Amino acid sequence: MKDNRVLLVVELQGESLHPATAHGVTAALQCAASCTLLVIGAAQESALQQAASLQGVELVEHQPVALACMTAENLAPLIRDRFVALQASHLFMLETRWGKDLLPRVAALLGRQPLTGVVAIQDARSFVRPTHAGNALVTLHSSAGAILATLRLTAFSPAPTGAQPCPIVTAAECAPSHPTRLLERRHREDARPDLCQAEIVVCGGQALERAGNFALIEALADALGGAVAATRSAVDAGLADNALQVGQTGQVVAPKLYIAVGLSGAIQHLAGMKDSGCIVSINSDPGAPIHAVADYRLVADLYQALPAWLTLLAMQ
Ligand code: FAD
Repeated sequence: MKDNRVLLVVELQGESLHPATAHGVTAALQCAASCTLLVIGAAQESALQQAASLQGVELVEHQPVALACMTAENLAPLIRDRFVALQASHLFMLETRWGKDLLPRVAALLGRQPLTGVVAIQDARSFVRPTHAGNALVTLHSSAGAILATLRLTAFSPAPTGAQPCPIVTAAECAPSHPTRLLERRHREDARPDLCQAEIVVCGGQALERAGNFALIEALADALGGAVAATRSAVDAGLADNALQVGQTGQVVAPKLYIAVGLSGAIQHLAGMKDSGCIVSINSDPGAPIHAVADYRLVADLYQALPAWLTLLAMQ
């Protein structure tokens, strides 16, 4: 453990740190006494200071990169080079779309097999991850060589902040190594909380049938101050944006309260939400699998249950 060096690649949201950065530091500290953070992109000074104040971080490396070069093709060689220069033993990224896109490329450049979706660390070479759509956990042991892994956001508690800030080193902006360019990045104007960080998530399924009906899900989320989510069937039917999909091929969430409306509870969906603190199901079929994992079940027509619930909330 004391000889290990962990490089945690930090994702930015706009110019701020991804909120789960501190969770990644906790995972890193289960493999080494301290870790180095590599912040890629146009980070605010306050974001770098925030990273430097996380307990257990010994160095923050800031690599400015022009927006046009923020593609996996350009970033993977850059991360590989920092990893090799640091002589690190572990390279960690968050299990986000960004991390899932980048890490396999870095792993290929290093000739290593990446681990994805790590939910627990037994020791510096033994990692637990879900398998079979989240129905089982497998422990993988790596006997030699560098370890590259993406970390499930919901699996690790955040490292404490408020430490004496460690050094921050900002490199010169790097030149692109690949012809692919990012032309534009648009932030969705959304007053709702981020799906992966929200304490309450309201998820709508195929039973919503039409995009207009999905407004019921949005209204309940807004009344409760929660985020909106959707099943893959709902996304495929054009009821909701792809970014809102929860499940094996979507986001993995673990809010305090997950309200599942008009969805069956397929294993691929459960893989993305079954670790939620409290699950409420609303489904007209008493035999729907979602009822089996729910803490509170309502066997009802959603078109009656949701308006009634919204009326009650409006009266409060
Ligand atoms: P359905 O299964 O059609 O369920 C609709 C439910 O609504 C039914 O249970 C029905 O009883 C109920 N209902 C109908 N009318 C009403 C009403 N008026 N009031 C109340 N209830 C009503 N799915 C995901 O969600 N996320 C993933 O990431 C994902 N990844 C996948 C990956 C792979 C490789 C594969 C093969 C599948 C994946 N799927 C994923 C799809 C998954 O298998 C299911 O098809 C999908 O989750 C079903 O969505 P649903 O529950 O909305 O629809």
